Amino acid sequence: MIEICTIGGYNEVGKNSTAIRIDDEVYILDLGIHLENYIKYTQDEDIVIVEPKELMRAGAVPDVSAIDDWKNKVKIVLPTHAHLDHLGAIPYLANNFKAPIMCTPFTSEVLKGILTEDKIKLSNKIRSMSANSSFQANNVKIEFIHVTHSTPHTVMIALHTKEGIILYANDFKFDLFPTLGKKPNFKRLEELGKQKVLALICDSTYAADSRKMPSESIAKEMLKEVMLGIKKQACCCDYIFIPHCKA
Ligand SMILES: [Zn+2]
Repeated sequence: MIEICTIGGYNEVGKNSTAIRIDDEVYILDLGIHLENYIKYTQDEDIVIVEPKELMRAGAVPDVSAIDDWKNKVKIVLPTHAHLDHLGAIPYLANNFKAPIMCTPFTSEVLKGILTEDKIKLSNKIRSMSANSSFQANNVKIEFIHVTHSTPHTVMIALHTKEGIILYANDFKFDLFPTLGKKPNFKRLEELGKQKVLALICDSTYAADSRKMPSESIAKEMLKEVMLGIKKQACCCDYIFIPHCKA
């Protein structure tokens, strides 16, 4: 029996989280914050300690009470990449689950950095697994498939169950000219397409807009232009240290 619980991030930008139950095993894919609601909540109130329940009430983190009945069955929490709307709620909510967190090395370092900075201790172990690798967890094989985005080490996650595959692809950008790392692993997606895929959970910011999002290499050039533009108006040393600047 397979059930999918859409905890957050559907019809909204932020607090992405989906729980997938496969018999007696539950996998949580992403556990992000809703940045706008989080900032509003932490700015409006004079908060000393951020309480997870209050954050849930403010719509700043996914309302995990939706999976209260599944709580003890959670096996792994799997953030797909390092953006806060995919992992930012982990510091507040992961303690609810006796399960490790598994993500790519870059994502794991970003998460560890947030925990250190905010002095938050989690009982969950943080494990990392490289993109384009897989891991057998209980009765489900978890596969990370490399995909491009605006942050490194982003993955799509395939859960291989005895019934078939569930592919989770939430927030990515097919970029044929990435500034860092390889192109998306189209070959593997093609292979998966030939197998029994039970469900594809797929979304990305601005996915509903019918336009092509430019490559990160274009963004890099645009950024360069902005920085050089600043140099013309004022000395760039006022903003950043550039050793060769003679202005
Ligand atoms: Zn993202």
